[in-house]
This record gives sequence, structure tokens and C-alpha cells, in this order.
Amino acid sequence: MPDHADALAAAREALHATFGFSAFRGVQQDVVARVLAGRSTLAVMPTGAGKSLTYQLPAVMLPGTCVVVSPLIALMHDQLRAATANGIRAATLTSADADREQTIDRFRAGELDLLYVAPERASQPHFRELLTRAPISLFAIDEAHCVSEWGHDFRPDYRLLRPLLDSFGHVPRLALTATADRHTRADILAQLGIPEEGLIVAGFDRPNIRYAIRPRDNAMRQLKALLDEQPGPGIIYAPTRARVEQLAEALGAGGRRVLPYHAGLSPETRARNQAAFVASEDMVMVATVAFGMGIDKPDVRFVAHAGIPKSIEAYYQETGRAGRDGDPSVAVMFWGADDFARARQRLGEVEEHRRNAERARLDALATLVETAECRRAILLRHFGENPLATCGNCDNCLEPVGVLDVTRLAQKLLSAVYRTGQSFGLGHVEKVLTGQSDDRVIQRGHDALSVFGIVDADEQPLLKPLARALQARGSLVPTEHGGLALGGDSRAILKGEAEVRIVVPPKPERRKRQRGSA
Ligand code: ADP
Ligand code: ZN
Repeated sequence: MPDHADALAAAREALHATFGFSAFRGVQQDVVARVLAGRSTLAVMPTGAGKSLTYQLPAVMLPGTCVVVSPLIALMHDQLRAATANGIRAATLTSADADREQTIDRFRAGELDLLYVAPERASQPHFRELLTRAPISLFAIDEAHCVSEWGHDFRPDYRLLRPLLDSFGHVPRLALTATADRHTRADILAQLGIPEEGLIVAGFDRPNIRYAIRPRDNAMRQLKALLDEQPGPGIIYAPTRARVEQLAEALGAGGRRVLPYHAGLSPETRARNQAAFVASEDMVMVATVAFGMGIDKPDVRFVAHAGIPKSIEAYYQETGRAGRDGDPSVAVMFWGADDFARARQRLGEVEEHRRNAERARLDALATLVETAECRRAILLRHFGENPLATCGNCDNCLEPVGVLDVTRLAQKLLSAVYRTGQSFGLGHVEKVLTGQSDDRVIQRGHDALSVFGIVDADEQPLLKPLARALQARGSLVPTEHGGLALGGDSRAILKGEAEVRIVVPPKPERRKRQRGSA
């Protein structure tokens, strides 16, 4: 084994010769140096930080083949194309490849630097058998969070990798992921048998992205306003295909080029829309989260969410598609109580052993959404960093919001939900609380309840934001028929053991116009 300085000099040489880059970026050098020294590593690097290079470079330098485990065939083929374009000898071994025999021959003849496989193949006995036929330089495990039930994308097949890795115990392992909170990271290390000192985490801050998170009142109007004030290419994420189609059509009528993207479109249409987006300077793509992976467009100026993302990890990843060129960019989320209601309802369908992790993920997202604190600070803390308390480039830093203690009002609201039988929507409960007796209120005898009319005109405007906050944190949950019921920590709130605070937005006239590209 050559010494450290020699190895690094050789790595820089290869970096230039094979990839045409003049220097390593961020933690790339640390990761490559560890791998070249034969030590197993978990590299946590945000999207766009250049993870592929950290295994491709050693693959070129080390004798033998680097086996790359990757979860998506489409992703593998992208990687293959890019690697081959750099003159790297690479192949994929998937059910979609007609040239499998030829690939196996090349592998056995020692003619491959990189061999990409899916986890389900990697865990088969005859694949292990194949690997004994030629020297292996490195195991790269891409999207390594898939091995963890704490991760947002657990794949049981990843669990089957460990025996393979262990049967080639002398071969170093390099696990890679863009999205892992502390919990998931520890789990990846344990599951893949990587020592704790092998963890290398890149900085997650994206200082040029300005974060803003707002309640959704009229999505169409809010998105139109965003398009009006925000030039440059942008992505709007919507939760369903139908919503994508609807938004794309309505927003497209405004004059700007707007195209849809979701898995229900034909592959040709998707490819065409994606190509148009990549080439454009002001197009807007309305898309499901199917869009974005592997797209190299550095000048995306804004990413908007028309509903909540799946988790903080997903939010970070999706907003991270903005501003890769380092220029000022904007990430805006429009959220509604119903987003959280639906997400909490879906928790019921999650396998039981994963439910707690999913609930924790949703709670973390609710905290980010409901906070009066710096959004960036919350994001970065989530990823295990120790950021400054304020960033100066998020909505809460630019226009500090007030915080109101509304515990008393929350108790009134929760009592009214309870006393009306936990089956009515907010509209009815609000009537009861504010003492408006319509037919239904009288018919049900709700005008005789002790909670009838206990909320005065000053408090009434706070009921809606309060209900939203309570739904986000799960203290109010939806019933099957669209009513509200008590959930989460509602009993603690009623007993005065938990507090409720809501943020009160800055006055509209104080809101300065802010432009991402100013
Ligand atoms: P990730 O997988 O982490 O999202 P990629 O491996 O796709 O990131 O790399 C993102 C982009 O950065 C690619 O276009 C890649 O060519 C480029 N890149 C990677 N490393 C360097 C470097 N050291 N110098 C310049 N560009 C780099
Ligand atoms: Zn901030």
C-alpha cells in the first residue's frame, strides 16, 4: 500500500485525467483517501455534492472491479452513461440488459472497473459465486439509507447484502446517501458493518436557497403570484397526478411555459417535457416527486411545494434541486391542515414496526412548518449540524413572526370537539364555540352545551390557524367522515400539561417584496 501522500497525489492525477476536474469538492478527498486506504466508510453528502466520484475514482485506480449496488435501474443507466463517457469501463447487470452474458465475460476477464447491480441480484447465491471469479476492489452501496427502517425509503433487499459483504470481508465498503438523519446514519453503520469512525458527513447548508413556508389558503392564487414574481426555471411539486395536470393547465394559461411531469405520462412525453425543462430559461415544471432524480440543471431558480413533502429529508432533497449553480434561489412550501390529516391517516396503513419512525418523521416536519424559528437552523439541526440560530435568508429570519400562547383557546376547541361527539368538522365546532345557533346546532342540542359561545370575537380569528396547528401536530385527527376527533397529546393539553403556541404572521403591509434574483 503506497503511503497517504502518494495515494492522494495519484488520486488527483486520476481526477484530472479521467474526470477532467481540477480539484476535489468538499469531503470528496476525505472519502476517496479512506477508500484507497482500504477502510470502510459511510459518506453522507447532499445531492449534487458529487457522490459518484467517490467510488468511481477508486474504481479506476484500484485493481479489480468495484461492485455498485443501486436501487433503481434508471439511475444505474444514467450512471453507466456518465461513467462510460469518461472512459471508465463500466456495465450494468440487470433484468433490463440483453448483454448480460457479455458483461459476465468482461467481468471475469478483469475488464470492468465498475459493475452496477440491483440489491435483489446482489443477494443471490449465484451472484456471490460470480464474484469469486474475479478480484473485487470495492463495494459501493448507493442510496444506503434504504437499508434502514428508520430511513424514508426502506428496501428489504438491502438487508440481504450483509452476508455478501461479509463473505468478502477483505473488500472495503463505501455506503453513500444524501439523506440520513442521525438515527438512520447509526443504523446504516450497524447494518452494513461499517465502523463508527468511518462516518464522513458533508455540510448540508445551501446558503443561496431562501426558505419560506406558508399556510395554503388559495393554492392557485398563491402559485400564480409566485410565478409572477419569480423569474427563471422552476419546479412545482404537487401530491397527485391529477393535481399536477390541473395546476399545469391552469398556470399555463398565464403565459409562461408550464408542462406537467408524472409517472402516468408516456415515457416519450416525460422525456420530451424533461428535455424542454433542462433546455429552458424560464419554464415551470409541475410534477410529482417522480421528477428530479438524476436531473442535472444547475439554474433552477425556485422549487415550490403545493402540499407537504413526505419528510424533512424529502423536503431538503426536493428543495435542493434549486440553485445548484450557487445563485440566489427560492424554496416555498404551501401547506394545509388536510395535508397533515391525510399523512397521519396513512400512518394507520404503515406496517406496525415502522409506524413510530414514520410518526416521528411527520412530527419533525410539523415542527419545521409550524416554527417561528429559523427554518435553516431547524433543517441543519435535523441533519446533525450545529448551525447559527438565525440565517438571515428564510422567511422567519427576514420577517420575524410573533408567537402566541393559545393553550386556553386550544382547551376550549378540544373540549368542544369532545362534547359535540368527535364527529363534526371545524365549521360546526366553530359555530358552537362562538354561539351561533343554526338548525344543526339546535337540532343536536349543541346550543345547550357548556362550550356554547365561550369564544369571543377577538379569539375567533385564531380558531382556524389553531386548528391547523393542532392537526399538524396530531392533537386533532380527522374522522372517516370528515369530522375532527381528539388525538396525540390532546388529553395533555386539556389537562394543562402541554402548551400550544401558534405563529402569527407578519402584517401583509409589512411584507416586503422579495425577489430571489435581486
Ligand atoms: P450526487 O450523486 O452527490 O448527487 P453527482 O455525483 O451526480 O452528485 O455529481 C454532481 C455533479 O457534480 C456532476 O455533474 C459531477 O460531474 C460534478 N462533480 C463532481 N465532483 C466534482 C469535482 N470535484 N469538481 C467539479 N465537478 C464535480
Ligand atoms: Zn433563517
